[in-house]
Formats: sequence, structure tokens, C-alpha cells
Amino acid sequence: MQQLHALRHSCAHILASAVKRLYPGTKFGIGPWIEDGFYYDFDIPQGIKEEDLPRIEEEMRKIIEADYPFIHEMWTKQQAYDFFNKEGQNYKLQLLEEIEEDKVSIYRHDDFVDLCKGPHIQSTSQVKFFKLLNISGAYWRGKESNPMLVRIYGTAFFTKEDLEKFLKYQEEARKRDHRILGKKLRLFDIYYDEAGAGLIFWLPKGAILKRIIEDWILKEHRERGYFVLNTPHLLKSHLWKISGHMEYYKDLMFIVKQQAQDFVVKPMNCPAHILVYKSAKHSYKEFPLKFFELGTVYRYEKAGVLHGLLRARGFTQDDAHIFLTLEQLEDEIIELIRFTEYILKKFGFQEYEVEISTQPQEFIGNPQDWEMATSSLKKALERINIPYTINPGEGAFYGPKIDLKLKDSLKRKWQLSTIQVDFALPQRFKLTFVDKDNKEKTPVMIHRALLGSLERFIGILIEHYAGLFPVWLAPVQVKLLSLNSQVIDFVKEVESLFKKEGIRVEVDLRNETLSRKIRDAEEEKIPYICIIGQKEKVKKILNIRKKWTGVKQEMRPEDLILEIKKEVM
Ligand code: ZN
Repeated sequence: MQQLHALRHSCAHILASAVKRLYPGTKFGIGPWIEDGFYYDFDIPQGIKEEDLPRIEEEMRKIIEADYPFIHEMWTKQQAYDFFNKEGQNYKLQLLEEIEEDKVSIYRHDDFVDLCKGPHIQSTSQVKFFKLLNISGAYWRGKESNPMLVRIYGTAFFTKEDLEKFLKYQEEARKRDHRILGKKLRLFDIYYDEAGAGLIFWLPKGAILKRIIEDWILKEHRERGYFVLNTPHLLKSHLWKISGHMEYYKDLMFIVKQQAQDFVVKPMNCPAHILVYKSAKHSYKEFPLKFFELGTVYRYEKAGVLHGLLRARGFTQDDAHIFLTLEQLEDEIIELIRFTEYILKKFGFQEYEVEISTQPQEFIGNPQDWEMATSSLKKALERINIPYTINPGEGAFYGPKIDLKLKDSLKRKWQLSTIQVDFALPQRFKLTFVDKDNKEKTPVMIHRALLGSLERFIGILIEHYAGLFPVWLAPVQVKLLSLNSQVIDFVKEVESLFKKEGIRVEVDLRNETLSRKIRDAEEEKIPYICIIGQKEKVKKILNIRKKWTGVKQEMRPEDLILEIKKEVM
């Protein structure tokens, strides 16, 4: 792995030196290896498009053939400063300023010099199998107040087979792209110009899919003792001042002014649930007290990070707030992890990873509470033998958290569930409960969303299943295709029978050829395609093709209903 990283990072240097040759005046950002390859950030005065990548690749090949050695040198900071200053490399100068040591590590090949810790391969000719993949925009150091650089992504492998395997996998991932499938299957749309970026319109089929998931997740929460709430989309800004959002989250909030009053379109449901908590007196006997809401929230995500359903500006969370005592925390975390596992299995995900994020630089609450909460999260995971990694400083501003990343059918990782402990908000909102000793105390609070955002989750599901949903989720479960106009009465009879039984059915009565009708239904990824001709009408049966298994079979409509109902259970 170490060697692959060195290969890829060296390829990033080769990319940079090719860009230097082709685009004079380019300023260089950073160019690290990443999980699937590498990237390099550039400030290219001439600008660049995806179509330019082959030309850059060609230049890279020349550099590779020339077999330049990668030379490692230690320079004094002054020496490096003079060099990058003379070259006009202001980003490198900024990086240099952050280095505390007197000596800095430099790698160079040909006339390209980079501030770099390495490691590298020996010479450029060791890069044999590489590919530039795509370009995107990226703010320098990820900060929006900084200039936007162009990021070129690429990858490199030691063998031709590995590269080809990777590119094939990329191709497969492209075919599963939920934005493309979502349009093709008529699940959702985004009307950028008319309605705004990042705002999702669920079309009839997608709306059904979302509703199926919502109904199921509601049922599961009720069974586990959650109280279901429904709270307003707007709350007075005063509440968000108490919660700390006005201070720490303002850039992401939509604020609406009406007369002299500011309202915040809720970016989270917490303050609303807290108000409900405060509306009654509470005792330890009710704990853990769990409020659940399918809460639709809005966040002003930057245009550059919006990505179909995966990152939107409006989305519905399966959000809950759990009020409990510190002693109950560990057990509750275990229950939440088990609940999450159960949910993931239901949707066909087998693997996941767990991360604990700890105290960030800016936080509210006191450090001892942070410490205590973090250790409860760890203990809970250790008790049920779930391995985890620590993500230092990545907690929310009000508490540490557990994040769950699932792996989909292509082994890609997706951030999904989040379980956050919060000592701060109960104090800020002066929440109380009466404990066993009859004293009033402050409860601990957990924020958690297990599917996360429904929009995002459905985006992941589309890619995971490549649009071919299991029967219980499929927006249309059965399609009835008429072979000719004489069978229409029977087709309609079957349709109304299915509808009565709650089966999601569509009919295709068009005057098209059968092969065309079958092809269209297959493109729509419908699990059961039923062909109905004269023979079927007379025998009162269906000629079924099952999309999942490819099986062709004759069945009575009543039997298909039973089969589907069994699948949906
Ligand atoms: Zn919350």
C-alpha cells in the first residue's frame, strides 16, 4: 500500500510538471494521494476543461519516458522561500509559512520542484499505468473565502490489469449514478433555474418510494417506544440564539424576516423537540424519553458541494432526540447501534464501519462532560465488540458523536447514521427532570438520525441496487403487458384485483410490439413483468418474467399476489 501511495503521489508530481509545461504561469496548490488515486490543485490562468485531459496525459507520457529521477533534498526555509517566491508560487509560500522546522523537505524531477515529504518512487519511468479521471473545482484549503482552484483527479496502478479493473469499476459506478438513474426512472428532479439548486422534487414514483421508507421507519420507531412529533418548519431566531446555532451555524441557515421578527427555517429539529420537552414536567421514570420526527430541514450548502440527492439543501431526516440520564447512556447507545444494524440489513447492506468523532476546536459545554460522553460511546461499542476508529476533533460543536459508514454493493463507503451526545443544549435550554432522590437535575440528550437524510439514503439505495429495487421498495411491482386489444378486459380485471390487494401495478395497453413493451418495462426495472395474450385470458393466468432472477413462469394472479405479499413482509 505504501508503495502504491508513493506511485500515485509521484504521478501527481508528473501531472503537475506536465501542467507546468503546457500552461505557463500556473500556480500549484497541493497534490496528495487519495484512496483511489491522487489529485493536484492548480490555479491555471488559461483555464482548463475535461477535454484537455488527454493532452495533459500525453505530456505526462513524455515526462515518464524521459525517466527523470525523483530527487530528495533538504532545503533551509529561506532557500525554499527564495525559490518559490521567485517562481511566484504564492500557495507554496503559504504552506511554507505553516512549517515550524528550519529545514524543509523538497522533491524534484526535471525542472519541477515541490514542497513535499514524499515518499516517491525512484524515477518517472516507473509510472506505467495511469489515467486522468476528471476535473472539479476546489477552494484553496477548502475555505470559501479563498480562490477556487481546479482539481485534476487521476489514478495509477502497478499493473495494467489493476488499472483496467479500476476503470471498469468506475464505469459501473457511473452507470449507477443516482442522478442519471433518477431521471431515467422518473424518481426525482431538480429544477435549478426555476426553483433553485439543491431542492428536490419527488416525482410520483420517487414519492412512493420515499413514502414506503417513511412508513416503515415510523412503524419501527413506534414499536421501540418513540413518540412521534410533528413540529413547524420555522422557528423564531431567539431559539437559535439559545441553541448556539446563530453563532456556530449561521452560514448554513435560511433566515426569513417578517415585520420586525427574524425566523429561521429549521436546519435541525432539536430546538423544536426541546420546546416539546419543556412543555411538561418530567421524571426519571419516563427515561429514556424518545421523540421522533420525520423532520424536513433546510441548510444552505455551498453550490460547489451539492450533489443530487446525496447533498441537497432541503431534506427529511429520521431524526430523534432522546432524553436520559448519564447512567443510561451506554445502554442506549448499544440499543441504537443494534437498531441501525437491523435497518441496514432490511435495506440489503451487509457491511459498515464505525467512527467516533471527538471534541472540535470550537465547542460549547465543559471539557469534563465531553470526556465523560466520549468514554461512554467507546465503552458501549467495546461492550458489543464493534471495532471503531477515532476521528479527532470532528465532533459537533455540542458533543461527541458516533458515525456509521456503510459499504454498498460496489464496496463504496457512505456516511449514514449519526448518534450525537449533547450535554450543552439541555443546559442552555435549562431542561430538568426529577430524579430518584426527588431532586431536579439536567438530563443528557442524544441527537440521532439513523438513515440520516431520506434524500441521501434513497440516493445511496438507487446506486446500491442500480435502480432495480427489491419488491418491497419497487415503486411499481408489477407491469401487465397486453398482447393485443382483445385481452384488454382481462388485463383491466387483473389490474383492479392487484390494486385492491395493495399491489403497485401498471398496465401497458399500447399498440406496440411485445418486444418493445418488454424492453420498456425492463428499462423501468420492474420486478414482475406479466404478458397477457389470448391463451392467458382463456386460462386466467399470467405469463411472468421475473427481473431479479430471470425466471419465466406461468402463474394465477392470486398466486402472484401471495408471492409478492410474502416478499414485502
Ligand atoms: Zn438534534
